[in-house]
Amino acid sequence: MFFFEVVSIQAVNKNSWTGAFLDFLFPPLCLGCGEYNSGKIDICDDCLEAIDRYENPFCLNCRAEITSENAACTICGEGAFLMFAWGNYIDPLKQVIIQYKFKEITSPSRIIAGAVCEQFGLLIKSLEADMLIPIPLHPSREYYRGYNQATLFAERLGEFLDIEVDDTILYRTEKRRPQARLNEYRRMRNIRGVFSVETGLDNTNGRKVLLVDDVVTSGATVYEARRTLQKAGFSVTGVIAMAHGL
Ligand SMILES: [Zn+2]
Ligand SMILES: [Zn+2]
Repeated sequence: MFFFEVVSIQAVNKNSWTGAFLDFLFPPLCLGCGEYNSGKIDICDDCLEAIDRYENPFCLNCRAEITSENAACTICGEGAFLMFAWGNYIDPLKQVIIQYKFKEITSPSRIIAGAVCEQFGLLIKSLEADMLIPIPLHPSREYYRGYNQATLFAERLGEFLDIEVDDTILYRTEKRRPQARLNEYRRMRNIRGVFSVETGLDNTNGRKVLLVDDVVTSGATVYEARRTLQKAGFSVTGVIAMAHGL
């Protein structure tokens, strides 16, 4: 349902005369395969079909697939950490996300947020989160890139799910080496203590948070964000990501 709303919004622009003229000047290319794409969104039908999607969320703690209607992990109970990802971090989804992160192409935030909500919207809503918190970048890295891709994605998710997005509570205090170049053990050490929570917050106790990131790999970053937020009294029950994989 959500996904089709996204498609119709974009269709209006493409049907206009200026839209057709712009298509002629700059042929629309698929973000997944780079081929000419006459479709209504920036990912062609073949690539949409080829994305290795997750049928169900799973628990990051115990890796159990969650098939219940109330999004609960029967193994971990209250301590579960649920992972909602659209697909596996392999091509063509990987290519789409790379373009999104490094080439200032922001349309995937809306397309993927719509797809995630179509797939998991009801389960996510059943968690009754008070807010979505995107994983912050270090301010200098955000300045260089111009935007935080996790925040942009979180904002689109927030619109579809009608959940508040707060990108002021959790922030990054130290700049570390990019996680992608490190092995799992080093990722854990590299990320430890990297986040802080805004001081002087009232009523954090038990407030339910879902984290949002673009790609979750080892999980070291989202676990550290969760640890930091839970120390401040929040309850972090899950994470929503565009993709998951190594
Ligand atoms: Zn394609
Ligand atoms: Zn579990």
